[in-house]
Amino acid sequence: MGKILEKLKISKVLSSDGAWGTLLQAKGLKPGECPESWNLDHPDEVMEIAALYCSAGADMTETNSFGGNYFKLKHYGLEQKVTEINRRAAELSRKAAGREKIVLGSVGPTGKILMMGEVSEKELYEAFREQSMALADGGADAIVVETMSDLDEARIAVQAAHENTSCEIICTMTFEKTVTGEYRTMMGVSPTEMIPVIRDAGADIIGANCGNGVKGMVDIVKEIRAFDLVIPILIHANAGLPRYEEGKTVFPESPEEMASYVPSLVGAGANIIGGCCGTTPDHIRLICDALKMYR
Ligand SMILES: [Zn+2]
Repeated sequence: MGKILEKLKISKVLSSDGAWGTLLQAKGLKPGECPESWNLDHPDEVMEIAALYCSAGADMTETNSFGGNYFKLKHYGLEQKVTEINRRAAELSRKAAGREKIVLGSVGPTGKILMMGEVSEKELYEAFREQSMALADGGADAIVVETMSDLDEARIAVQAAHENTSCEIICTMTFEKTVTGEYRTMMGVSPTEMIPVIRDAGADIIGANCGNGVKGMVDIVKEIRAFDLVIPILIHANAGLPRYEEGKTVFPESPEEMASYVPSLVGAGANIIGGCCGTTPDHIRLICDALKMYR
């Protein structure tokens, strides 16, 4: 049994970290710049983000590797550095997390669409294998396949990580509320459809990330729990739907507002709660406080 499942046996709930992109931008990441190149060029800044979340109380921190797959890095001419960039990402978060806290190696979508024939299943598998092995090599305890919309891509990423590393595997997809009030990914996948596929592919923990904010996550957790009574659920919600104000992206949900949903999320069956876009160490600090009574 891996570190997260082990900890969940002792504590019913755990906390995770918040946004990385938001903090990298605050530290000077320019629009159009490759965020993952900072693992090589600005390692101290990257490590500091993980350290901020750890000192805010998070039990786990992600790595700066969301776009660290072959296809995304190729866009920047960095496809030869997949292994180096991802290994470094995990090493930096591990340094900040110490031995006790958990490091989640972040794996995002490739941006290539299987259904359109832009990429083959084999090529996707190879890209996710290469990335997750490097994250494991750098010291990640778990691989978190996240922000997925296509069920096939999510399944292949989970399989690649599961079959080639000894890490625990987490998979979260991004759901939006439809006009009829149901939750679906951009590619039309519901939480209920996601569960058996991702579970069979080897995921230990499933859930949802990004999206419109924390409120809708309660319904998503309920839907997952209705289908699977056992599997741990991880939620990384955005701080609301982003607004554009004076050329800047603003996330409306305050730390207090997000933390106020913790009881509903835990009540619905969530086990690990952190944040996605727009969340900060302040959000995580209040979420950790709110989780204390359930630990
Ligand atoms: Zn997000």
